[in-house]
Amino acid sequence: MESLDYGPLGVELKRNVKDAWWREIVTGRDDVVGLDAAVIMHPRVWEASGHVAGFTDPLVDCKSCKQRFRADHVQGPRCPECGGELTEARRFNLMFKTFVGPVEDTAHVAFLRPETAQSMFVNFRNVLETSRLKLPFGIAQVGRSFRNEITPGNFLFRTREFEQMELEFFVRPGEDDHWYDYWRQARFEWYASLGIERERLRLRPHAPDELAHYAKACVDVEYAFPFGWSELEGIANRTDFDLKRHSEHSGKDLTYFDEERRERYVPYVIEPAAGADRSTLAFLVDAYDEDQVEGEARIVLRLHPRLAPYKAAVFPLLRKDGQPERARRIYDALRKHFSVDYDQAGSIGRRYRRQDEVGTPFGITIDHDTMKDGTVTLRDRDATTQVRVPEDRLVEELRARIETPAA
Ligand code: ATP
Repeated sequence: MESLDYGPLGVELKRNVKDAWWREIVTGRDDVVGLDAAVIMHPRVWEASGHVAGFTDPLVDCKSCKQRFRADHVQGPRCPECGGELTEARRFNLMFKTFVGPVEDTAHVAFLRPETAQSMFVNFRNVLETSRLKLPFGIAQVGRSFRNEITPGNFLFRTREFEQMELEFFVRPGEDDHWYDYWRQARFEWYASLGIERERLRLRPHAPDELAHYAKACVDVEYAFPFGWSELEGIANRTDFDLKRHSEHSGKDLTYFDEERRERYVPYVIEPAAGADRSTLAFLVDAYDEDQVEGEARIVLRLHPRLAPYKAAVFPLLRKDGQPERARRIYDALRKHFSVDYDQAGSIGRRYRRQDEVGTPFGITIDHDTMKDGTVTLRDRDATTQVRVPEDRLVEELRARIETPAA
């Protein structure tokens, strides 16, 4: 069984993606609140949501090479690997099963959540009663989900455990079309504002036969991966389906009293559902570039500064004349504000290249002049230009540059 783990830089990149999403969706708005709910919920939740009965993929087996495929990923009637004959499609439930407590019988079966969304519906009443929110408002969550995927692959694109970034935005019935349009544009722009090339992004509306039975409309944000256009995020108008189902199964009233309209109803919900790992992969792939600097080939990750694992790297030009000590002091001061690297090994050119390769947007070099006038050079990864900046203005300078949205 394969698994994909994030190393020291990958974990920073993914955290930055999740933080950027949280800031955009939760802390940057006054109409959305966050939630952090359990992975193992009561099994009845998954009956109410329809996952026990319907969260399945069609599965086919090759009779010759025994490999398994998702029927909807296979073109034509034969095995894509060996050309062998395929079995009839069978429905396969993607939820991971486990048992709660010491007794492993059907009465104690539980599931690992296959999406984070249901906990927002289950907590709808709690959030409504403990906040002073009025429609329209949203509940958002970032967290791990689990699916027993038949064909994981394409690196982080499809794995069996992954992190989702989901928003359930509750609206008045009748205002749902407006909010669906709003979120579809907003979500597209989010990827572009963090540097993804617009030509490599598109919104693909679902055809009527692709739509889930409960959804009024659905659109995918897709990215042109090296393996083809593929989904980063789905935005759906789920109507009042989920709250009604949970209300029916739990017997709890999940209606909302609209004081302005003096009426009671079940809100509609617009759901932008994104994947932290898929978007991390897209940001990474999109940032990769090779160019020439002063006649030399270099590899550069043009990550948006907000996503870059290190915001800056500090280098003493020479390993003498007090430069390393001065550089170390600057590094320690900057570390209180940003994630920063320190490097004094090898030529300055080599050190720049190393940082270019991991996407560090700014290089700060302490040289002979620093010792005289307290200025350092600030190098830009993309333009490779350098300006001199007083060391006591570095925090401000870096902050302004990190916050600039992509063009
Ligand atoms: P797919 O059709 O690719 O299986 P989906 O339409 O079932 O995806 P959703 O249920 O809409 O996916 O989940 C929302 C988001 O969660 C997806 O857009 C994706 O970013 C992420 N996601 C879903 N499944 C996986 C997975 N197996 N690995 C990584 N990310 C995933």
